[in-house]
Amino acid sequence: MTENTRTIEQVGVIGLGTMGAGIVEVFAKAGLAVVAVDGTTELAERGRGFLEKSTGKQVQRGRMTEADQAELLGRVTFTAELRDLAAADLVVEAVPERLDIKREIFGTLDGIVSDQAILASNTSSLSLTEIAAGTKHPHRVVGMHFFNPAPVLKLVEVITTILTDDDVVTSVRDLATQMGKKPVVVGDRAGFVANALLITYLARAIRTYETGHVTREDLDAAGRVGIGLPMGPLTLCDLIGLDVAKEVCGVLYNATHDPSAAPPALLEQMVAAGRLGRKTGQGFYDYGEQADDGSPAGDVVTADSVEALATALSGDGVTVELHQGGDNGRLAEVVRTAAADQATIDRARASLLAAEVTPVVGRDRAGRVRDALLLPHLNDAVKMLDSGYASAEDIDTAMTAGCGYPRGPLQIIDDLGADRVLEGLRAMAAETGEPALHPSPLLVEHAAAGRPFRG
Ligand code: NAD
Repeated sequence: MTENTRTIEQVGVIGLGTMGAGIVEVFAKAGLAVVAVDGTTELAERGRGFLEKSTGKQVQRGRMTEADQAELLGRVTFTAELRDLAAADLVVEAVPERLDIKREIFGTLDGIVSDQAILASNTSSLSLTEIAAGTKHPHRVVGMHFFNPAPVLKLVEVITTILTDDDVVTSVRDLATQMGKKPVVVGDRAGFVANALLITYLARAIRTYETGHVTREDLDAAGRVGIGLPMGPLTLCDLIGLDVAKEVCGVLYNATHDPSAAPPALLEQMVAAGRLGRKTGQGFYDYGEQADDGSPAGDVVTADSVEALATALSGDGVTVELHQGGDNGRLAEVVRTAAADQATIDRARASLLAAEVTPVVGRDRAGRVRDALLLPHLNDAVKMLDSGYASAEDIDTAMTAGCGYPRGPLQIIDDLGADRVLEGLRAMAAETGEPALHPSPLLVEHAAAGRPFRG
């Protein structure tokens, strides 16, 4: 342990739902003694069941021995009594996202734990400062924001307020590192790093889908194949839950009044209609539906190279633009003008699929589909860096370790070239007049100097 850190040997976790159960597992795996609390004995027992099931699967897969599992379970005490947390050095609350509940719990803990104990919240969107201000010792309150699933995703955003003691921050950061996590320490701002960038990107994607210029499958392909992300934005919204996405949009918009973060009308309508994504069986996709095999009718044109194929398919109001191939394949944008007829589009789509290139059909707009998704997202990351909120390394870590990006947004800019990103944004800003598309001055500087963000 480094200087100025507190000894953390016994921890408490309050709330054993989706996040809390995973956080208990992370601590117990790291060898810490854990007191796991939920509202009733039944709920605490349900929490034990989650841990047994999760570790049981790891035993089945050969990732853990039965003896290790028994030892891990032996380190955790399940209870419905907050007073069993008296000896905890650190308590993490993961109760529902409501300020009143969190403040009440922290207030009660003030009378239970020692003055030296650290009180952490796993909140995704509430103000840590407001949670802290309701306690007797606000200097020991900190955010410890795990990502779902907590045992798998490495990111932990450690949120400090203007009141948090330095040694509290260092202790939580060092503990996260010791547990094999990647901590990123930032101040108390709506959405912190990962959600502020991710949810704004998702909101933009939904707004693009709302225009009707592109199908849901093509929009997702632009993210998955064109950017190389683990999944497309609409599939990700369905996984996160549309209600959660809408909630975070609201928090971001209230804090910044940035129109790009405002909940899109379609998102609000889908939430009102109860289409919340995977958890309700319907979101942007219908999870009872037969999957579309993505092979539309149309004559197939062949050519001896993909480049020649793209040229052969261009004409009759259609242009085919190829992107560089990546880990998830190669994307071609089929750009249709008002003069294009459907048979030409179908032929282009079928021919590209036959050549194992993923087609995305969109209208003739600056940025097409891929860059319209990607470039504003990269610009947001540069704006965050320029605002002094997080370093380039921390922004990239948040997106890789928290959201499964293969490369962080600032690394992507370095790979594409800041000048290309700048040029693309300028073209989109000129066409739409949207203020959010104006390039960050820091991006302009890097493009002019040819200086990488990471490097
Ligand atoms: P959840 O609803 O799955 O679990 C909440 C748990 O808290 C339940 O087991 C509930 O019984 C328990 N609880 C409620 N009131 C309690 C009380 N007074 N005392 C003790 N236990 C109580 O919620 P979740 O999705 O795990 O979210 C928990 C927190 O984590 C929220 O602040 C949320 O914003 C945050 N978070 C969620 C995610 C996610 O993907 N779900 C990701 C990161 C952070």
